[in-house]
Amino acid sequence: MDLDLTDEQKTWLATITEFSTSRLAPEAAAIDAAGTFPRELIAEASALGAMGVTIPAELGGAGLDYVSYALAIEALARASAVVAVIAAVNNSLVAEPVAQFGSDAQKQLWLRRLASGQAIGAFALSEESAGSDAANQQTVARLDDRGYVLNGCKVWVANAEAADVIIVFAATQPGMRGRGVSAFLLPADTPGLTRTDAADSLGVRGLGCMDLELKNVRVGADALLGAPGEGFQIAMWALDGGRVAIAAQALGVGAAALEQALNHARHREAFGQPIGNYQAVQWMLADMATDLDAARMLTLKAADARQRHPRPTLEASMAKLFASEAAHRAADKAMQILASKGYQRGSVVERLFRDVRATEIYQGTSEVQRMVIAEHILS
Ligand SMILES: Cc1cc2nc3c(=O)[nH]c(=O)nc-3n(C[C@H](O)[C@H](O)[C@H](O)COP(=O)(O)OP(=O)(O)OC[C@H]3O[C@@H](n4cnc5c(N)ncnc54)[C@H](O)[C@@H]3O)c2cc1C
Repeated sequence: MDLDLTDEQKTWLATITEFSTSRLAPEAAAIDAAGTFPRELIAEASALGAMGVTIPAELGGAGLDYVSYALAIEALARASAVVAVIAAVNNSLVAEPVAQFGSDAQKQLWLRRLASGQAIGAFALSEESAGSDAANQQTVARLDDRGYVLNGCKVWVANAEAADVIIVFAATQPGMRGRGVSAFLLPADTPGLTRTDAADSLGVRGLGCMDLELKNVRVGADALLGAPGEGFQIAMWALDGGRVAIAAQALGVGAAALEQALNHARHREAFGQPIGNYQAVQWMLADMATDLDAARMLTLKAADARQRHPRPTLEASMAKLFASEAAHRAADKAMQILASKGYQRGSVVERLFRDVRATEIYQGTSEVQRMVIAEHILS
C-alpha cells in the first residue's frame, strides 16, 4: 500500500495551499462576518481548476483524480470552510452528476461552464419533510403531453444565491419514495422557479443557502437528468462523492484548529511557563493530532475508493462520520486551549468552532451515516 502522494498531486496541493494561504485566509473572517457569497474568490479558485477538479480537461475541468480533489477541499477549508463547501457542492453534487448522467446537450450547455466556474451549480434535494428521509419528496413533477410541470418547495440549497443551474429532485411517481424520484437540470432563471431567503446560519456563512419555490415550472423532457425514476440513485451517487468532500472539509477545519492550538500552547504562558509544557494541554494536542490523522487516512481511503469504483458508499460514510466528529472534537479542544482568546467573538477558533458543526449535519447527519454503515456491515 502506497500512502505517498504522486508528484502531480504534490504540485496541485502546493498550488491550492498557496491560494488558500495568500488569498482565502486574509478574507475568511470578512466572508463570515458579511455572510455574503464570495463570488470573486470563487472565480479565482475556478481559474485554478478547483470548481471542476475531476472533470476532464477537454470539458473544462482540471482532469485530476479524486485524491487530488479531497486534498484541494482540505486545503481550501484550512483557510475558509465556506469556500471549501461551495467548491464541494459545485464539484460533487452538480458537475460530477452532469458528467456522469447528463445528455450530450446538457453536457454541452453546462459542464464546461460548471467546471471552469463560469456557472455555479446547486443541488436541491432537501425539503421541509425530506431531510434525513430524503426519499419522502413532496415536490411533484407531473408529466403531460408537453413535458413536466413541477410544484413544491426546497430548503437549505447551498450556492443557490449565485447558482446558474440547479439539480432539482421531484417525485414523478408520488408515493413510490426513492423509486419514484426523478432529477431535473434546471437553469436558475426558469420561469416559476424562485429563490427565497433561508434562515441565518451559525457557521459556513456566505454559502448562499436559500430555499426554492417551484410554482407550475414547465420544462421539456429534455430537462431530465438521467432516466425517469433514476433521480434518487443519482442523488445517492452524488452524495457518495460529496461525503468524501465533506470529510475533507471537516479535516481542513480540524487541522486549522490544531494549528491555532499548537501556536497558543507554544506562546501563552501561565505559572511562569508556556502552557504547552503542561501534560494536560499536551494530551489534548496529542489526541487532536491522532484523531485528525486517523480521519485523514479514512478520507484518503474513501477518495481513492471513489476513484476506483463509482459507489464507495461505505468508505464515504465512514470518512464523513469520523472526520466530522474528529474535527468537532479538535475545534472543541482548541477552544479549551485558547480559553478566553478562543471564546472571543471574531477569533479564528470561534469561527472554526461554528463552521465545523455543519459537517455533522449536511449531506447526511452522523446518525444517517451510522445507519448507512450499519446497513452495509449487516448485509
Ligand atoms: C448549512 C447547510 C447546507 C445545506 N445544503 C444543502 C444543499 O445544498 N442541498 C440540500 O438538498 N440540502 C442541504 N442541506 C440540508 C441537509 O442535508 C439536511 O439538513 C440534513 O439532511 C438533515 O435533515 P433535517 O435538517 O431535516 O433533519 P431531520 O431529518 O429532521 O433530523 C433531525 C434529527 O433526527 C435524526 N434522525 C432522523 N432520522 C433518524 C433515524 N431514522 N434514526 C436516527 N436518527 C434520525 C437526525 O440525525 C437529526 O439528528 C443543508 C443543510 C445545512 C445546515
